[in-house]
Amino acid sequence: ERVLAPLADEIERSVEAALRPRKLDEFVGQQTVRAQLSLVLEAATARGVAPDHILLSGPPGLGKTTLAMIVAAELGASLRVTSGPAIQHAGDLAAVLSSLEEGEVLFLDEIHRLARPAEELLYVAMEDFRVDVVVGKGAGASAIPLTLPPFTVVGATTRSGLLPAPLRDRFGFTGHLDYYDAFELEKVLHRSARLLDVPLAADAATEIARRSRGTPRIANRLLRRVRDWAQVRGTGDMDLAAARAALEVYEVDPIGLDRLDRSVLDALCTRFRGGPVGLTTLALTVGEEPETVETVAEPYLVREGLIARTPRGRVATPAAWRHLGLEPPTDQGT
Ligand code: ATP
Repeated sequence: ERVLAPLADEIERSVEAALRPRKLDEFVGQQTVRAQLSLVLEAATARGVAPDHILLSGPPGLGKTTLAMIVAAELGASLRVTSGPAIQHAGDLAAVLSSLEEGEVLFLDEIHRLARPAEELLYVAMEDFRVDVVVGKGAGASAIPLTLPPFTVVGATTRSGLLPAPLRDRFGFTGHLDYYDAFELEKVLHRSARLLDVPLAADAATEIARRSRGTPRIANRLLRRVRDWAQVRGTGDMDLAAARAALEVYEVDPIGLDRLDRSVLDALCTRFRGGPVGLTTLALTVGEEPETVETVAEPYLVREGLIARTPRGRVATPAAWRHLGLEPPTDQGT
C-alpha cells in the first residue's frame, strides 16, 4: 500500500492540474480577490514592472496554488515553486533567490512554516532585492551582498495570523480566500465536467456542491468519485441518484462533513461532553496534528455553526449534537 499510495496521489494530482483554471477570468468566485488582483497585475503590466509581492491566505483547497499560477501566466512570466517546509536552511532559500531571473514569480507555499533565519533572509530579498551570501565559516565568515533582479513573491498560507508582522508587511497585496458558496461550486463542477467530457445533470451538480465543504478541490474530487460510481455501478449517467449513491459509499455526509470533521465533532460531544476542550487534547483524541485540526477541520465547522472557539477551548454548539443525532445537554457551559 505504501508503494501504491504515492502513485495514486500522483494521478489525483495530475487530474487536479488538468482542471486548474489558467486565466483570471476562468477562475470561479472570490470576486473581491479577483478584482483586486486583476488591478495589481494590470497596473504592473502597464508600467512594465514586476508587481508588488502578493500574499494569499485561506483554508486548503480554495485555489491559492491556482491563483499563483494564474499570476505568472497573466504576467507572461515563469513560475518557480517551493514551500516553507521544503526549505531547511537559509542557504537553500538564498540558492533559490539567487537563481531567479528578472520578472519571475516565486511561489512560496506554506510560507508560515519557513524557519526564522530563512524568513529574515526573505525580508531583505523582498524589500531590497538583495541576498547576503555567506562565505567561509565561524569568525572568518563574511557576507557578500548579491543584487537580485526584480521578481514577485506569491506567498500562500493557511494561517496568516502566524506570519510575523515584518514579513506580512513586505507584501503589497494580501488576498483572503473564503469558502465558496454552493452556486459557485456548481459552476466549478460544470466547468470540470466539461473538461473531463462527462455529462453532469444539474441536480447532481447541486448535490455534489452542497457536500463539498465550500472547497473546489473537494468538489472536483467528489465529481470524479461520482463518475466512477456512475460508470461501474450505475447506468453511466451522472444524475442525482448516482451522486447520492456515490457520496454514500465515500461517507460524505449530507452537509459535506468528512471523517475528520465528524470525528472532531464526535470527540467533542461524546468524549468531552461538548467542551470546552483545548485544541491539542482534541487533536490527540482524533489522532491528528493540532495544525491539521485547526486549519483543515475547524474553519469549516465554525463556519457551519457546529463548533465555537472560546477562550477556554472548543465548544460543540447544539447544532453539532443534533447533527450527530444526539440531544444537546441542558447544562452545557460555554
Ligand atoms: P493548498 O493550499 O492545499 O495547496 P490551494 O488553495 O492552493 O490548496 P489549489 O491547488 O489551487 O488549492 O486548488 C485545488 C483545485 O481546485 C484545483 O485543481 C483547481 O482546479 C480547483 N480550483 C480551485 N479554485 C478554483 C476556482 N476558483 N475555479 C475553478 N477551479 C478551482
